[in-house]
Amino acid sequence: MNILVINAGSSSVKAAVIDPATGARLLEMNAERLLDAPVIDFSDGTHLELSGKGPDRAIATCLEALKEKLADTELAGVGHRVVHGGEAFDRAVRIDAGVEEKIAGLAKLAPLHNPVNLRGIQAAQELFPAVDHFAVFDTAFHQSLPNRAKTYALPKALLAEHGIRRYGFHGTSHQYVAAVAAKHLGAETRDLRIITCHLGNGCSVAAIEFGRSVETSMGMTPLEGLAMGTRSGDVDPGLIRYLHEQAGLSPAALDELLNRQSGLAGLSGAGNDMRTILQRSTEGDPDCQLAVQVFTHRLRKYIGAYAAVMGGVDAIVFTGGIGENSPVIRHRAAQRLDFLGAIINEDKNHSAKLSDQAPVFDFSMQHSRVKLLAVRTDEQLAIARQCGQLIAQEDAVNTLPAIPIAISARHIHLRQETVEQLFGKGHELTVKKWLSQPGQFAAEELVTVVGPRNQIERVRVLGPVRSADQLEISRTDEFFLGIDAPIRESGKVENTPGCKLIGPAGTVDLEDGVICAWRHIHMTPEDAAVFGVKDRDIVEVAVGSGERSLVFGNVLIRVSPDYRLEMHIDTDEGNAAEINVGEKGVLRSTSSAGTLRKKRPGELVG
Ligand code: ADP
Repeated sequence: MNILVINAGSSSVKAAVIDPATGARLLEMNAERLLDAPVIDFSDGTHLELSGKGPDRAIATCLEALKEKLADTELAGVGHRVVHGGEAFDRAVRIDAGVEEKIAGLAKLAPLHNPVNLRGIQAAQELFPAVDHFAVFDTAFHQSLPNRAKTYALPKALLAEHGIRRYGFHGTSHQYVAAVAAKHLGAETRDLRIITCHLGNGCSVAAIEFGRSVETSMGMTPLEGLAMGTRSGDVDPGLIRYLHEQAGLSPAALDELLNRQSGLAGLSGAGNDMRTILQRSTEGDPDCQLAVQVFTHRLRKYIGAYAAVMGGVDAIVFTGGIGENSPVIRHRAAQRLDFLGAIINEDKNHSAKLSDQAPVFDFSMQHSRVKLLAVRTDEQLAIARQCGQLIAQEDAVNTLPAIPIAISARHIHLRQETVEQLFGKGHELTVKKWLSQPGQFAAEELVTVVGPRNQIERVRVLGPVRSADQLEISRTDEFFLGIDAPIRESGKVENTPGCKLIGPAGTVDLEDGVICAWRHIHMTPEDAAVFGVKDRDIVEVAVGSGERSLVFGNVLIRVSPDYRLEMHIDTDEGNAAEINVGEKGVLRSTSSAGTLRKKRPGELVG
C-alpha cells in the first residue's frame, strides 16, 4: 500500500510516498520558496524551477510536478498534515465537505496554517480524485488534556465566547516517539509515564501518562512554552502592554516580534540554527551562551514540572533536529536529574548516533530507573500509518451487540488485613448481594471515609478481599472530601493519594489507593473477538439516543474469562448522560490500539 503524505505550508510543500507497513519511501518531494520562484527537489535527484507561476498556483504547481512523477504508482490514499483540529478533531479523519468546512472554520485559530493546509487538500483532490484523502491534525493527540491543563485562568464567559483554551501542537510527533520509545523498552505506552521533548525549529514538551497526553507546553497557539528557534515561548503577559506603551509596538508588530524575532535567534543574534549557536558559544560568544542557557533551563523546568504532574516518570524522550542530534543540549537538559531517578550516561550520550537502522538509543545508565532516550521522529510515516488504519476500517460496520451499562457508586476494595483492622480480628466480609461480575459481591460492611475537608459515611465495601486497598470515588466526591485523585484503571494505585478509614473496630490510614475509576467495559475473550478489541484497548461508546445521546470517549476495555459484558461508569457520568436502568451503549470506534471488525461478505452496513 502506498500513501501520499502532503504537508503544505505557506512557503514550502513537502510530500512523500510511503508504504505504512514498512516505512519505505518510494519518492520524496521538497519544494521551497513557493512565494517567488518555487524550487522543487525530488529524492530521485531531479530538480525543477518553476518561475512566474504566482503564489496562488504554487501548491498546485508543485503537486502537478509530483503527479507526473507518480504516473505509474498506485496510491491507496492521500494524507494531509493539518495544523489545527480545534475541538472538532481528536483523531485523523477521512476528508469530506463537512471536514473541509471545519478546517476552514478553524482558520481563526491558525491563520497562517489552516488556509494553506486546505489549499493543499483542494489541489490534491483535483489531481488525485480517485482516492480518499485524510486529514491528520497536529492538535489531535492533545485532545485528551484534562480541563485543569487546558484551561487558562481567565473569566469563564470570555473563554467560552472565544473558544480560548490550550490545544497543544506537534501531537503526531509526540505520539509517534512515545510509541517508539515504549516499544524499545519492551512495554506499551499505556503502561508508562513518558515526557517527550520535541526540539526542532518549533519546540514543545508533552507529558504522556499511560498513553494519553495530559500536559503539553504549547497552548492556544504554538507560541507558548519553550524558547524556540524564533519564538519567545512563555513570557509575562504584562509584557505586551509594556512593550506597546514603551516601545510603541502594535499588535501586529508584537506578534511578529514574539513569533519571528525572538527565541534563539533573538537572544543569540546569530540566527535560529542551534548548530551555529552552539559553535559560537564554545568560541566564547556570550549572547550565544545565554541563548543556550535560556533554552535548556526552560526545558529542564518543564521536565521537572511534568514529572510532578504525572507523579513520576518512566522515560524522557528527546526528538526533533536538536533533540536527535545535540548531545550538548541533551546533557544540559538531563544531567542532575538523579533525584527523579534519571541518571545520564555521558559516554553514550556523546557517542551514540541515530540512523535509519538505529532510530532510537538509550543514553541512561543501566541502573537508571528512568530511561533517557533519543528517538528519531517521523511525522510523515506516522501520518501514513494513521491513513492506512483508516483505510483498513473503511468497511467497518456497527452490527455489534449492545453493551449493558451499569453505574458504579462509590465503593471500596479492602485487603484482609485492613478488614480486620476496621471490623475486628478474624472478621470476614459477609455477602449482602452478588454483583453482575461473577464472584464479586457487595458486602454488608460499610466504612466511613475521611478526607481533609469532609467525610463520607456508609461507603460500601466490595468483596472478595484484594491484595491492595482501593477506594473508587467520583469527581464530586473528590471535591467533597478534598482529595485530588487521578483517573486510573482498577489495580493501578501507585502514586495515588490516601485517606483515613473508620470502621466499628478501628481506624486505618491508607497511604495510597484513592482513585477516580477509569470508565471501562468488562468482557470475555469471546466478546472481545466479536468486538474486534483486546484487553486495555481504548474505545468510544455512544449512549442513549436523540437529544440526550452522549458519546463516552476514552473507555477502557478489560478482558477476562471471569467477566460479563458490562460498561461501568461512575455516578457523575451517569447523571451527565441521564442514564436509566437498562440503558445500553453501542461501540462506536476504537483507538489506534484496536480496529473495528471489517464487514463480512453479504453483511448489511449498520
Ligand atoms: P523542523 O521543526 O523545521 O522540522 P528540525 O526538527 O529539522 O526542524 O530541527 C531543526 C533544528 O535542529 C535547527 O535548530 C538545527 O540547528 C537543529 N540541529 C540539527 N542538527 C543539529 C546538531 N547536530 N546539533 C544541534 N542542533 C542541530
